[in-house]
Order: sequence, then structure tokens, then C-alpha cells
Amino acid sequence: MKIDKLGAWRRSHYSADISPELDGQEVIVFGWVQEIRDLGGLRFVILQDKNGQLQITIHKNKVVAEVVEKAKTLQKQYSIGVKGKVKTMKNAPGGVEIVPNELRIFSVSEQPLPLDITGRTKAEIDVRLDARVLDLRREENQAIFRIQHAALQAVRAFLSKQGFMEVFTPRIIVSATEGGAALFPVAYFTREAFLAQSPQLYKEQLSLDFEKVFEIGPFFRAEESHTRRHLSEFISVDIEQAFANAEDVMNVLEELIHDVCKYVADNCKRELELLGHKIVVPEIPFKRLTYREILEELENEKIHINWGEDIPTAAYRVLGKLHPYYYFITDWPTKAKAFYIKPNDDNPELSEGFDLMWHWVELSSGGARIHDKELLMKRLAEQGLSTESFKTHLATFDYGMPPHAGWGLGLARMVMVLTGVKNIREVVLFPRDQFRLTP
Ligand code: ATP
Ligand code: MG
Repeated sequence: MKIDKLGAWRRSHYSADISPELDGQEVIVFGWVQEIRDLGGLRFVILQDKNGQLQITIHKNKVVAEVVEKAKTLQKQYSIGVKGKVKTMKNAPGGVEIVPNELRIFSVSEQPLPLDITGRTKAEIDVRLDARVLDLRREENQAIFRIQHAALQAVRAFLSKQGFMEVFTPRIIVSATEGGAALFPVAYFTREAFLAQSPQLYKEQLSLDFEKVFEIGPFFRAEESHTRRHLSEFISVDIEQAFANAEDVMNVLEELIHDVCKYVADNCKRELELLGHKIVVPEIPFKRLTYREILEELENEKIHINWGEDIPTAAYRVLGKLHPYYYFITDWPTKAKAFYIKPNDDNPELSEGFDLMWHWVELSSGGARIHDKELLMKRLAEQGLSTESFKTHLATFDYGMPPHAGWGLGLARMVMVLTGVKNIREVVLFPRDQFRLTP
């Protein structure tokens, strides 16, 4: 088959901008063949571009023979360009159709495609992810990432307005930041290095220079638990603020969630409609429950957890039923939290660490940090971590480390809330888990 060149053709309109007012005007549109309907002498080609769909109508007797012949060769997912006249047509989607004068085929597709791009024939998630770029032809799937884009715009606007500056910290690090989650090793010239699991230590250090910083970037955890909310690579939205305590950054977090929900609800109406999802802009402040209160609630539900232990997933499921909304869990036992989380001044058994929950899913963890070097070293030792491997980090505590606090929010988990999607693999373009390293 002869493949056409783009040449001097440039798009005059996106599908969404072609309205009945343009009746009679010549336009150039680009996109992909989404569907073909053949009624003998009449052929409808649905063209899909990034903003929507458009009907191209090829009437055997009203269109030049060359175009009629070429249109017969079209298959789903061919990449095409159409030059033609806009015609008002009540029954067409959007009330308009294009009557082509010229048709260019830029690329063909293998038939049959591994997926039904209309989504009418449902496919398993793994089949979909194996052919992800094709899977992303579906408007519903694109809607998820347009919502993510809007959410990120809102995050950046909100944090910038609050005086936070965006920073980028290293992804290649020399030793474990926090213990806990397993790290991926990297062959770094002649040495071993690791992929960062969080920006924690660097953002703390930068609070000493810039006071209020935020970072949005990928982090890596060698998670072996195969769940619908964990991936081995995920984007985290992180902040750190100098001269602040846990309550201060909890306020920032709930205001941010409120703003993001409002922005997405206002600006992604079409996407939310495609997904059949409604965003309720949450009222703030969110409920704050202490770890002790949570244990009591669980006790009432006949679930016993010893003070100091982490809360297992099954117990979170029960909490999610009791609190089907956003809520903070505060005042965690110090020993249940990372070494850098600040123990309470009056009762050091308790910490200034918190989690933000949505139903049963953790969206964010944060807290006030230790800024006293002696105490930090003591906490490292208590958690069985060597002060030697934190040498360069600890040195920064000799340069006037301010009291500081911050949090990390998993972007994909937030997008799951914003879209109503239940599996994290669907809200990440190319997810990485224990079993998936391609595409
Ligand atoms: P969880 O208990 O759900 O495994 P965590 O407490 O280990 O999470 P944190 O270290 O507190 O995670 O990270 C901060 C946030 O980053 C989490 O609240 C979550 O939103 C997100 N996050 C952490 N690990 C992952 C992951 N493997 N995949 C996706 N998001 C993650
Ligand atoms: Mg956490």
C-alpha cells in the first residue's frame, strides 16, 4: 500500500472544534480510524483525535472516485488526514460531518488488533497492559491521564502559591534512606548504589536552605506484595517545610486535597463523565483520629491490636467502613514510625507522625521531623541503622537544621480517588510491579 506524506498539510481544527457554525468551510483534520460503518454506497469513518471523535462521510456519488477507493482500504487504527468540507448533519455525532475531498493514509495497522479499541469487548488487565498504547486509544483511559494532568497543575499552582519551591533530588543514592522497604540495587561504575525510595533525607536538608520545598517525581520500592495499590515505581508528591510542626503540614495537605478536587471537578467535566465518576469536593478540616482512638474503635469491632503494632490491611478495611471518607491518623507510637519522625516532647513514646487515609487506603504519610542531631542518632541506633551510613546526612544537622515537617503523597493513589479506578495499574501509563517490566 502507498503511504502518504504529511507534506504541507497542517491541522486546521481538532474534532471538538468542528461545529455546525463551520458549515461549508474547508478543514484539515488528523487522527485515527476508530470505527468504520459500511452501508453499501455510503461509508462512515469515525476519526478520533486527542479531543474527541468526528464523522467522515463518504458517499459514493458525492465524493471523488479516488477518495472513495482509498476509503475502502481503511482499517481501524490507520493514522489518517482528511481535507474536506464541514456539513451540518443532525444525526452525526456533534451535529456535523466532513465530506472529504482528499484523504491521506500516513500509517496502517496490523489486523486483527490485539484489543477492541472501542472497549465493547472487554479484555483482561494484563492483555490491556501488554498492548498499552492501543489500550490508551480508549477515551475513558485517556480521561484518567487528563485528570492526572489537571491534578498536577492544581498541585503545582497550590504549592507555589503557598511559597513552596519545586526541587529535584537524586534518584541514585548510596545507601538506604529509611530502612524498611527493600531497595533496587544499581551497578554504579565500580560501586553499588540504589534507586531512591523517597526524597526524605534530601528534602529535609533543603528545608535548611529554601525553607519550603516540594518535589514531584518517581521513587522505587522492591515491593513483593502484589496488591492493587502498590507498584515498584510510583510518583510521589513531597513537601518539606521549615519552622513547622505536624499540624501545620496537615493543614497544607488537606487544603491541597480540597483544591485539587475542586480544580478537577471544575475542569475535567467531560473526563469525569466518560468515567462515570463524580467528585465530591471534600469539606475541610478532615477528621483527626489518634492511633489510640483507632485501636479502641477496632477493639469495638472485635479486632485486637497491641499498642505499638502497625495496623494490618484487614483492620484498615474495617476502618474504611467506619470512616468512608478522608481522615488523619495521628499520634502514632514512635517505634512504629521511621527514625526521622519526631517523638512528642511531653511523651516520647508517641510521635508527631501521621497518615492521611481515604476509606481504607493510605494516601499520604508525614510528620514533624527530628532536627536535634543527638536524638536523631539515638533513633537510628534504636532502629538498628548504622550512623556511619548516614554520615553525610547527619553532617547537615551541624549547619543549623531548623525544626521542620513534611509529607509524601502517592500521586497514583490520589488519582484513584479522583477517578474511582480501583487498580493502581490502570492509573499509571506503564506500570511496574514484581511481574511486569514491559512495555
Ligand atoms: P503502604 O503502607 O500503603 O505500603 P507506606 O507507608 O509504605 O505505604 P510511605 O513510605 O508512607 O508508604 O510513602 C508515602 C506515600 O507514598 C504512601 O502513603 C503512598 O501514597 C505512596 N506509596 C508508597 N509506596 C507506594 C507503592 N509501592 N506504590 C504506590 N504508591 C506508594
Ligand atoms: Mg506510610
